[in-house]
Amino acid sequence: MAAPLVVRCGTLFDATGGPPLRDAAIIVRDGRIETVGPAASTPAPPGARALDLSSRFVMPGLVDCHSHASIVPGLGDQLGQLSRGPVPQALAATRNLARDLAAGTTTMRVMGEEHFLDLDLREAIEQGVVAGPRLLVAGRGLAANNGHGRVLASYDGVDEVRRGARENLRRGANHIKIFVTGGVSSPGTTPTSSAYTREEIRAAVEEAERVGTYAAAHAHGGSGLRMAVEEGVGTIEHAALATDEDIALMVERRAWLICTFAIFMHPTGIEQGDGRRPAIMDKMRWCRRLVDEHFPRHLASGVRFACGTDSMHGLMPFELATLVRLGVPTFDALLAGTRWGAEACRVDRETGTIEPGKRADLIAIDGDPLKDIRAMERVCLVMKDGVVEHRAGA
Ligand SMILES: [Zn+2]
Repeated sequence: MAAPLVVRCGTLFDATGGPPLRDAAIIVRDGRIETVGPAASTPAPPGARALDLSSRFVMPGLVDCHSHASIVPGLGDQLGQLSRGPVPQALAATRNLARDLAAGTTTMRVMGEEHFLDLDLREAIEQGVVAGPRLLVAGRGLAANNGHGRVLASYDGVDEVRRGARENLRRGANHIKIFVTGGVSSPGTTPTSSAYTREEIRAAVEEAERVGTYAAAHAHGGSGLRMAVEEGVGTIEHAALATDEDIALMVERRAWLICTFAIFMHPTGIEQGDGRRPAIMDKMRWCRRLVDEHFPRHLASGVRFACGTDSMHGLMPFELATLVRLGVPTFDALLAGTRWGAEACRVDRETGTIEPGKRADLIAIDGDPLKDIRAMERVCLVMKDGVVEHRAGA
């Protein structure tokens, strides 16, 4: 057992909802948070080591609710990237996950990989073989033969959906991912068309719920999104074309909205990767316009939301800055990147806030992101499970 650690914080944003605390201390023991309080009234236990972050803004590690470890959208043809063999996939993932961790992500939900790569990556990270965020994994995403997200296999009909879900769960998936509607980055589908029927969606939800987990649906809008919400998926991914009625249904059914802005808004995303494919670029520009127009109204509805980079590695700060640009108060943007993400991914008993009993996942920022959200780009230290995994410049 390592000696306890006292982390001295200039400002502590613990994400429990209260105001930030100046000059705070966190005591970490065996990878977990033992005590949090004002530095003056939080004595160091005997033999404790010290970590001085007294000039920094300290907050929980970020939760990226939607990514793919092996993809880099700026390289183009994302489905082609997923079709590579397991070795190039693993090598790419190793580099990508290190970038995510260095930018402050300590928990990441992976939303579909081939070769069950994400399950091996989760284990390799837990064992310290490679550096990366703690992973929550889906295994292979369930996609229809003519649907978005289809890579090496498809699952058609209720029985195949059940078989696919069960195989992922047998291998240890944390949740089920189902591609319900079309997407932006595949030329042949429209974002509001639905490849899956209600019965197929229901089968995925049932298989997940019977073993105590949930299904997450890729859905931009249209009848597929509505069916997914009605059938009880836990999270709706993207929802770029959701109408006010769709969002009202999500509020009623307590489904989470997982925003993924960077992939179609950041210049190094689809724009860089597939900029010469008009069928993709037109859809992307259309989505940008609609999200700018609709998201402020979605916000006002009270829908629960969190963020994901969708493989834009290291760009959680851009996701949070985009929330602020679209009208989210900075305080709430920081909650979306931490506690709300943990709630959406159902790991909020373990992470997402800085509270006694939780895993010691925290990051230190140079600057105050509550005053200027762009400070999130200056992550100078990342701790996961009580271990300093990254220091800027190191
Ligand atoms: Zn995705």
